[in-house]
Amino acid sequence: MAKKRKIAFVGSECYPFVKTGGLGDVMYALPRALVGEECEVRVILPLYACIPQKYKEKMVHKGSFMMDLTLEGRTFFVGIMELEMDGVIYDFVENKEFFDWGNPYTGLWEDIPKYCYFSKASLAILNYLQWTPDIIHCHDWQASLVPLYKRTKFWDTPVGAAKTVLTIHNLRFQGICSIPHLKYWSGLRDDLFDYPVLKWNEDEANMFKGGIAFADRITTVSETYAQEIQTAAYGEGLDAHLRYHSPRLSGIVNGIDVGQWDPNTDKLLAEQYDAENAVESKKKNKIALQERLGLDQDENKMVLGLVSRLTDQKGLDLVNAIFPQMMDSNTQMVVLGTGDARYENAFRYYESAYKGSVCAYISYDEKLAHLIYAGADAFLVPSLFEPCGLTQLIAMRYGTAPIVRETGGLKDTVLPFRGEQGEGNGFTFDRYDASLLLNAVNEAKNVYFDDRSAWDEMVKRNMRKDVSWVSSADKYLALYDELIPRQ
Ligand code: ADP
Repeated sequence: MAKKRKIAFVGSECYPFVKTGGLGDVMYALPRALVGEECEVRVILPLYACIPQKYKEKMVHKGSFMMDLTLEGRTFFVGIMELEMDGVIYDFVENKEFFDWGNPYTGLWEDIPKYCYFSKASLAILNYLQWTPDIIHCHDWQASLVPLYKRTKFWDTPVGAAKTVLTIHNLRFQGICSIPHLKYWSGLRDDLFDYPVLKWNEDEANMFKGGIAFADRITTVSETYAQEIQTAAYGEGLDAHLRYHSPRLSGIVNGIDVGQWDPNTDKLLAEQYDAENAVESKKKNKIALQERLGLDQDENKMVLGLVSRLTDQKGLDLVNAIFPQMMDSNTQMVVLGTGDARYENAFRYYESAYKGSVCAYISYDEKLAHLIYAGADAFLVPSLFEPCGLTQLIAMRYGTAPIVRETGGLKDTVLPFRGEQGEGNGFTFDRYDASLLLNAVNEAKNVYFDDRSAWDEMVKRNMRKDVSWVSSADKYLALYDELIPRQ
């Protein structure tokens, strides 16, 4: 039997310990999909103060040491707290100076030192544990100094032999700060602060840029986004850098953990269901959702759901622009999210203007999210850009039709409805234009109200669609194999 591959994941968040968005889901689901006969997987995470006590209680102390960081070589404590869950080993990096602030992200000025420390400590921990990975799979800018440290400060240590993969979950966040700030905290060599690597402009350095230059492979979370980020419109200033490194860049679409998101076993629903009984059961979940949120209880109304960070990325200005046109006496809207005040306030306003028909639940609420995915009929994801997007996948798994803009992973995962052919998963539009979103919503309403059998077929089709990690995990395995041929 071939030797198991050893994969180390390094990232700043991971469900169920800490999650602010899709990165947290992927850090949870992909290791679980990989672990088993082919791979051993360790996930390295910061031990943030906000990680629930019930997990902290289960952690085992694996050791500690001092590590130097910064240009001056100041030393910092590195503790290792370990937890195993379903075959995946989680190693939490313990350091109160960096991780005792509460939330994972506390502002770039502090986050830069925090994630310099985290990236370097991750490699030091692997050496300390004498667990030498074949692949170090780094996620987003917070872990993007790992490839640089690996090829410089750690090149002649055991971990220096590993190959690195850097996955871009969202290019908007890059870890940019003044050159002296990053030079000081990272302690990396001066020549790495030249234009091909970390230098961003005359005054600033960019951690993601450096990681992209130094990683053995770069992936992003859909094929379309892998193409888009090589253009000026989506490249967030890194398009030329990504075009230059494009031979090492590819897209692998995310899946979802179909155990975590399973309407047939989901205890947070009013009634569990599968594709066969979805149409009836979803009505019960709709009534439960309406009851919970104080909306008029009526199973015949079409409920549009939206679960999202409330930021510009998510296309909420389009939703705002057409809100009054979207609402009618047969339509209800449920928004769950937190974020920019202007969106929070706009949705609060619409809740008061359309009492009983609109609920703006301005909060982060994992439990309510489940009921929305089950109780809504359609689900809005009109993003300006969307590297992959998980909410449309979860919505489909719960038999809810996504209404999406054709960008990034939304384009790759939602096929437009074609009634005559009995095809498609939802309703799509291309240009970033409010009237096109309105057309898509109206098209969804037409099918929902006037062609219910075609709608119900789509519900079943969506629930049967493979949105699991299986085929994507295979693609990651193939990529790892290219980097480390198996003996
Ligand atoms: P992003 O990573 O850009 O935020 P994704 O679609 O990739 O977007 O992932 C979002 C994840 O976060 C989904 O699991 C979604 O259900 C969850 N989520 C987003 N906002 C909320 C919220 N307010 N309450 C509960 N879950 C949320």
